[in-house]
Amino acid sequence: MTPFNQPPPTLANQYDDDRVLRSYLQRALPPEVLAAIEPELKEMGNMAGGPLYAFQLADRLNEPRHAPWDAWGNRIDQIEVSPLWRAAEQLAARSGLIAIPYERLHGAWSRVHQMALVYLFTPSTDVYSCPLAMTDGAARTLSISGNTGLRSRALPHLTSRDPHGFWTSGQWMTESTGGSDVGLSETTARQDDRGTWRLYGRKWFTSAATSQMALTLARPEGNPAGGKGLALFYLETRDAQGRLDNILVHRLKDKLGTRKVPTAELTLSGTLAQPVMGLGDGVKNISPMLNVTRTWNSVSSVAYMRRAIALARDFARKRFAFGAMLADKPLHVDTLASMQAEFEAGFHLAFFLVELIGRDEAGEASEEERDLLRLLTPIVKLTTAKQSVAVCSEALECFGGAGYVEDTGLPALLRDAQVFSIWEGTTNVLSLDALRVASGGGALAALQQQISGCVSAVQEPALREAAGLAVRTAAAAADWLRAAGARGQSHIEAGARRLGLALGRSLALALVCRHAQWAIEQGDRQPLAAALRFAGEGLPRVGGDDPDLAASLAMDGPRS
Ligand SMILES: Cc1cc2nc3c(=O)[nH]c(=O)nc-3n(C[C@H](O)[C@H](O)[C@H](O)COP(=O)(O)OP(=O)(O)OC[C@H]3O[C@@H](n4cnc5c(N)ncnc54)[C@H](O)[C@@H]3O)c2cc1C
Repeated sequence: MTPFNQPPPTLANQYDDDRVLRSYLQRALPPEVLAAIEPELKEMGNMAGGPLYAFQLADRLNEPRHAPWDAWGNRIDQIEVSPLWRAAEQLAARSGLIAIPYERLHGAWSRVHQMALVYLFTPSTDVYSCPLAMTDGAARTLSISGNTGLRSRALPHLTSRDPHGFWTSGQWMTESTGGSDVGLSETTARQDDRGTWRLYGRKWFTSAATSQMALTLARPEGNPAGGKGLALFYLETRDAQGRLDNILVHRLKDKLGTRKVPTAELTLSGTLAQPVMGLGDGVKNISPMLNVTRTWNSVSSVAYMRRAIALARDFARKRFAFGAMLADKPLHVDTLASMQAEFEAGFHLAFFLVELIGRDEAGEASEEERDLLRLLTPIVKLTTAKQSVAVCSEALECFGGAGYVEDTGLPALLRDAQVFSIWEGTTNVLSLDALRVASGGGALAALQQQISGCVSAVQEPALREAAGLAVRTAAAAADWLRAAGARGQSHIEAGARRLGLALGRSLALALVCRHAQWAIEQGDRQPLAAALRFAGEGLPRVGGDDPDLAASLAMDGPRS
C-alpha cells in the first residue's frame, strides 16, 4: 500500500487570481491606464505564481556568501548572492520596477503602476525588494536634491531598464550606537586640501552590500553633535579598477529572516564621498529616501499577507480532515476570513499611500494631501507591518505542522515578515514620528476629513455602521491627543503607538468601506464582507492608561 502524500499548495497567476488587486485597479485607475498596464501585470502575475515561485523553492538553501580573501591572500570582500537574487535583479531592471515612476508615463498613476508590479514581484523574489526600495529612495532623493552633478551621474543607472547599466543603492544609516537615534552616528567626513571628502567609520547594518553606490550619513569634522551636525553623502562602492574603495566588509549578519539579503557590517576607512545637499541637516535630507523605502515596506507587507493567504487558501482545498476538505470546515473558513479581511483593509491603506505619493511627485497634491502624506507614511508602514506579522503567523498555523517545516518554504514567510516592523523605523519610532506630525493639527484634520469623505460615499446600511466606527475611532484619537497635551510629554509619548494604530486602522476601515460600496454597485459583495469582518474585530482604543503604572508593569522586578 502506498502511503498518503499530501499535495502541496500551488499558486495560480498571481494577478488573475487576486480579486482585491484587480478590483482596486478597476476602481482607481482611468480605464486607459489599466488597459495599458494590464499586460505587464498579467505577465508578472504569471511569473510570480509559476516559474519564479518554483525557482524560489528550489533556491531555498542558497544564501549569500562573503569571501574576505582570494586564494593568494588579497583582501577582496567579495559577496556572492543567491541565483534567484541574480535573476531578480535582471527582471527588476527589465520590468522597470525603479524606472516607472521616473518615466512617469501615466502621470500621477505611475506610482500605482510601479507598486502593483512590485506587489506581485516581491513575495517570489526573496526580499530583493530591499535593494530595490533603497534604489528607488536614492533616485528620489537625488532627483529632488538640486545636485545636478550627482543626479546626472547616478540617476540614469538607478532608473535604467538595461540590466547591464542598472545600479542599486544602499542606504547606510544604522551604526552600533543606534538605528533609531542616528544623531549618535560616529562616522566622520574629512576634507583634504583639494576639497575631496573621505569617510571614516563603521556602519552596522548595510543591506544590499553589493550595491554600486550608497547614500549615507557622516559628520563633517568640526560639526556639532546630533542629527543636524550630520550630512548626507553620496559614495560609489568601487573605484575605477573595480576594487572596493576603502571599504572593509567584516561579515554578513546571521539573521532570523531576510536570509537572502546580504546585510553587512563594514568599515569605511577613507572612502571617497560627495555631499549631496550641503554639510548639515543630514537626517532631514535623507528623509525623502526613507519616505520611499517606508512605502515599499507597506506594499511588501500587504504582498506577504496576500501570498500567505493564497497558499493557505489553496491548501484548504487540498487538505482533508474529519470527513471534509478544510475549505468546507466552518471554523477553518472563519479563520481564513479574518486573515483576508485584515489583508484587504491593509491593501487599501497601502495603495492609498501609493496614490498620494504619485500625486505629490506629479505636482498634483493639494496642501492637505501633502500634510496627509507626512502623517500617513509612518502610520501606514507601522500598521501594515504589524498586520503582516500576525497574518503570516496565522497562515503558518493553517498548514498545521507543515507550516513549521522548512522545506515547504512556508516558515520563510513569517521570518521575512518579521523584519517589516523593525527596519525603516520600528513601530515605536514611527509612532513618535506620526505623533510629531499629528500634534501640528493640520495633518490630523486632513486625515479625519479623508475618513469622513470615504464614509460619506457609503450607502449600504450595514456598511454605514462599520464606516461610522472609523469616524468615531479617529475622532476619539484626535480628542485624546488634544487632552493629552495637558497631562505632559510622558503621557503623550506613552500613547503614541496606540494613536498610530488607531488612526491607521480607522483609515483602513474607511477605505475598505468606500471600496466595498463601489464593489456592491458592480455586483461584487466580497469587499462588503471584508469591511464588516474588519470592523467586527474592533479598532484600538487610545488613552485610558497611566504611564506610571505602565512603567512599573513594564520594568517589573527588583530595581538596582
Ligand atoms: C535585516 C535588517 C536589515 C537592515 N538593513 C539596514 C540598512 O541597509 N541600512 C540601515 O541603515 N539600517 C539597516 N537596518 C537597521 C534597522 O534600520 C535598525 O535596526 C532599526 O532602525 C532599529 O535600530 P536599532 O537596531 O539601533 O534599535 P534601537 O534604535 O536601539 O531600538 C531598540 C528598541 O527601542 C525602541 N525605541 C527606540 N527609541 C525609542 C523611543 N524614543 N521611544 C520608544 N521606543 C524607542 C525601538 O522601537 C526598539 O524597539 C537593518 C536591520 C535589519 C534587521
